[in-house]
Amino acid sequence: MAEPDRTDYSQRIIDWLCDKVWPLVDSQKPILTVQLDITNACNLLCDHCYLPHHKNYGALTHYQWLTVLDQYERLVYKLRMIPAITICGGEPLLAPFLIPFLQEIRRRFGSCDLSVQSNGTLITDEVAKSFKELDISVQVSIDGPDAARHDLIRGQGNFEKAMIGCRLLGAFGVPFYHQAVLSRRTVGWIRDFFTFASANGATVMGFTRLIVAGYAEQLYEHRQDHPLVGHDLRIAMETILQCSRASGIPTNTSGALWHLIDPACTGGDNVGFAAFVIGYRGEFKVTSRAPLALGNVLEEGMEALFLRHPTMQHLRSNEIESCGQCPHFLKCRGDRNVSYAAFGHFFGPDIGCWLLQRCDISKDAAA
Ligand code: SF4
Repeated sequence: MAEPDRTDYSQRIIDWLCDKVWPLVDSQKPILTVQLDITNACNLLCDHCYLPHHKNYGALTHYQWLTVLDQYERLVYKLRMIPAITICGGEPLLAPFLIPFLQEIRRRFGSCDLSVQSNGTLITDEVAKSFKELDISVQVSIDGPDAARHDLIRGQGNFEKAMIGCRLLGAFGVPFYHQAVLSRRTVGWIRDFFTFASANGATVMGFTRLIVAGYAEQLYEHRQDHPLVGHDLRIAMETILQCSRASGIPTNTSGALWHLIDPACTGGDNVGFAAFVIGYRGEFKVTSRAPLALGNVLEEGMEALFLRHPTMQHLRSNEIESCGQCPHFLKCRGDRNVSYAAFGHFFGPDIGCWLLQRCDISKDAAA
């Protein structure tokens, strides 16, 4: 591949990112994570899903996804970053080209971090064997630490199916981890989640905050569930860290607000800098949970959208309402999904933040 032209506008942005931005956001490993939503179809209908439907009309073909890979390969090279690829959906195991696509990714990107996010219900011997051969880790989403609580959210019988999938992954030596949605409904189950993950052989028990989008909007409107905010969120995050340390099962502490729980956690929200999502029709999305598409990579190109789209540039300008003035900003940045769900754009405050709710950001930081 030819050496990049350092006089062109994109290259000047790239140099600025590499030389000025990564050190500021404390990124010792400049990883560019892309989530590829290779299908919108799903065999489940979870009541908190951030997608509004599971129709798959207009989905890219395998050949078109290879074009997307071409673009990502060029971008990673230009940005001098490390590739990391997450395959998601819908349920990615419903995509008929999943395994050949993973083989192609592995061929191109060598030992890069490659994971598949699944509900775990469709894993077979053949799939687990292929995952092992391709050195893939699997997220098996779990929303309750037992059948009754998981199936309440994900549908009758799906806990047992996911457990069969986990046993197959374990039998073939495929590392798998769990992620649960953290909300008012699940907050009381945190200790049980870690007990379950430990007994189930998972490598990580992670949590992601409920975002009121897609199907979750109905859940919220009917008062069946609610995102945690303020003091409640702080206590939940502290409990997660305590349970993780007590059980010896790691948890995911990258993202907004973790720096407030433990100052050693420095990987804040990386939206706009080091992560983006390609939707099932090739849409370039800032995050998975915000439905906004900035364009289509097959028409406008991944590099142009990542480097030059005004929304991406605005995210990198640090002009974020309230958060931008916060002394924790560079280690936190606030959750941009939460801003989008609350305000319809990415540049508002993280309304879950307990410092904002107390309106004394600077005092807290000084304490
Ligand atoms: S105000 Fe924003 S940047 Fe500061 S701690 Fe809260 S969410 Fe993070």
